[in-house]
Amino acid sequence: MKDELVTKAFEAMNNAYAPYSNYHVGACLRTKDGHDFIGANIENASYGATNCGERSAIFAAYSHGYRVDDIVGIAIVTDGELLAGPCGICRQVLSELLHEDTPIYLSNGTENMTTNMKALLPLMFGKKDLK
Ligand SMILES: [Zn+2]
Repeated sequence: MKDELVTKAFEAMNNAYAPYSNYHVGACLRTKDGHDFIGANIENASYGATNCGERSAIFAAYSHGYRVDDIVGIAIVTDGELLAGPCGICRQVLSELLHEDTPIYLSNGTENMTTNMKALLPLMFGKKDLK
């Protein structure tokens, strides 16, 4: 699963719209029933309106009715020189929309890492805190 998702994430990265940062991100997540959802970063001249690749992918899956229990893994890739993890906003979003142990495959083409939200966002704030 890992290699397929990473490959599809790099393909999705080609669709990134990043005229301001020129930093391209792609993502691909898989559901239990075998559907793959891709995403790419989509920037905007009003920078705050930018959407990251991993959020694009997971929002697409949720928009199709999938939920946290349906997602079995996600690859997030960049064309950066350094291996990069999700930004802070994405960590908050993913902490709610993924299980904390769902595998997250990071790659920049030369370095790779498998991680999860438990490792990326310790002491995460979420639904449990609002009860
Ligand atoms: Zn992000």
